[in-house]
Amino acid sequence: MTSVLDRFLRYVQIDTQSDPNSPSFPSTSKQRNLSNLLAVELQELGISDAHVDEHGYVYATIPANSSKENVPVICFCSHVDTSPDVTGASVVPIVHENWDGSDIVLPDDHKQVLRIGELHDLDTQIGNDIVTASGGTLLGADNKAGVAEIMAAAEILMHNPDLKHGTIKILFTPDEEVGRGTEKVDLQKLGADFGYTVDGEAVGTLEDETFSADAVKITIHGISTHPGYAIGKLENALKIGAEILARLPKDSLSPETTEDKQGFIHPVQFEGIQEKVTLSFIVRDFNTPGLKEKEDFLKKIMEEVLEHYPHSTGDFEVHEQYRNMKEVLDQHPQVISNALTAMEKVGLSPIRQSIRGGTDGSRLSFMGLPCPNIFAGEHAFHSKLEWVSVQDMEKAVEVIVSLAQVWEENA
Ligand SMILES: [Zn+2]
Repeated sequence: MTSVLDRFLRYVQIDTQSDPNSPSFPSTSKQRNLSNLLAVELQELGISDAHVDEHGYVYATIPANSSKENVPVICFCSHVDTSPDVTGASVVPIVHENWDGSDIVLPDDHKQVLRIGELHDLDTQIGNDIVTASGGTLLGADNKAGVAEIMAAAEILMHNPDLKHGTIKILFTPDEEVGRGTEKVDLQKLGADFGYTVDGEAVGTLEDETFSADAVKITIHGISTHPGYAIGKLENALKIGAEILARLPKDSLSPETTEDKQGFIHPVQFEGIQEKVTLSFIVRDFNTPGLKEKEDFLKKIMEEVLEHYPHSTGDFEVHEQYRNMKEVLDQHPQVISNALTAMEKVGLSPIRQSIRGGTDGSRLSFMGLPCPNIFAGEHAFHSKLEWVSVQDMEKAVEVIVSLAQVWEENA
């Protein structure tokens, strides 16, 4: 048996940073170095169909060993890439065994300090073995903790025929961090009924709600003239755009003034010249009808501002981005109830959470694979202070194995 820690330490030393500016797929070919290794290791576990496809996705099947024929096919999914925000080259993982709670100063940059009170959940880890990077890079626990956990669970399931389960699918995706993780996935080929991304934070957490998300683009066509002869004629699109932004509420409806289940309207780009400007927004709400309300509100602001500029016009375009996975998961309550049961069986008190963002799971859910997110133990993502504890990773392995069994028991 290879421990989840051994796997994790090997995987994080492979640079798999993705690139938001690359047009290719996967966005960086180095992601294949890990994907290829994973396929080989799955083969070595006896999973004979494990392979990397032409887009860099790893697909593998753990055959059913249950005599029941109606056990749904379950998929466990993680991403191999790491964030473009912090370098993932030459990662040197350090295991701080039996951590006593004192500050962890990272050796390659003494300004990088993990300190209780400054990092979420760190205070719960005293006595555990904490893995960090060395100060100059991210660690890559997001999402190589999930990758290592799924691999370790696969080994347990393959080597213990007494643990009964249905068909289990494994999927490792590239390019999640640049929002393209599901772009070339072949769900038909995967053939799973339900899935779980293993990419969450604290031990015991289960995330089954995300934002619903739209993008809005406003284009203002003003009236341009020579500024020396503009009196009574010029309608400056830059000023019209600025007025629209100025009318957004100051104390609500923005990312900086909302939390929990509150949504927002968020300008992300403003560009143009006096003749024409475009304003780009993202709109977020946990309820999809709430998106429409916010978009109507924004459109009304645009129309009211334009009333003062009789010759100017505005276009208002809405583009759907993703939807709250809860809309799909509510139709398949066993996906959540089985995950909660699996966590309870390994001694955890599950914590259901919502994400103020989207996941690959939200896209997969609407593509036909209902897919909440379960914890991998990764913390302080996309930073040099990223950390994970060995004990949390071991617990995640137990949850994956238990979940495979719970689906079989409940079938
Ligand atoms: Zn992730």
